Amino acid sequence: MGGLMKISSENCMHSGGLRSAVAPEYLCPACGARMDVEEIERWVREAEEARDESYAAVEVDEFSQIVREERQREVYRRRKVLYELRNLPLGLAPRPEMILVSYDAEGDAYECRIFYKEPRPVGGLERVNVAAELDPILELKSHPDPNVRLASGKVEEFHALRQGFVSGDDPPPLRRVFYSSEL
Ligand SMILES: [Zn+2]
Repeated sequence: MGGLMKISSENCMHSGGLRSAVAPEYLCPACGARMDVEEIERWVREAEEARDESYAAVEVDEFSQIVREERQREVYRRRKVLYELRNLPLGLAPRPEMILVSYDAEGDAYECRIFYKEPRPVGGLERVNVAAELDPILELKSHPDPNVRLASGKVEEFHALRQGFVSGDDPPPLRRVFYSSEL
């Protein structure tokens, strides 16, 4: 390696992403670590746990706010690496025919149902529940399933529409159907 410093895979953030190696493994070009999908999923979960830990702190000052944001970004970055790897075969996933978003007042959450004309794609989700708050909705945008990412945009749209009603006289709508022409 000459004068180059070898990065140990223990400390490497795999920040250049991962590449296909001998199937079913992926390779980090920076440290040479090889991981299969299960290990990459664990790597994503570690970032999620670190993020959750920072949210568990009771006292919130400016510094812990920065830590939270950094850890959230790391979660998004790792998920992106994961779903880009998974995306190769998912690129052919059929698009939904219709998405129904309904508001559940009791749980203050949205239920999102994804309908397909063709048989449901393997591993494709038909139902997603998400709290009626912007952060968890935006978090769905890095979901590995492209149709869940698509649906999250519709939930976001419906959430914004409902927020607009808060100060008005009419109650906000409880459901909204998005047809294929809107997807
Ligand atoms: Zn690495």
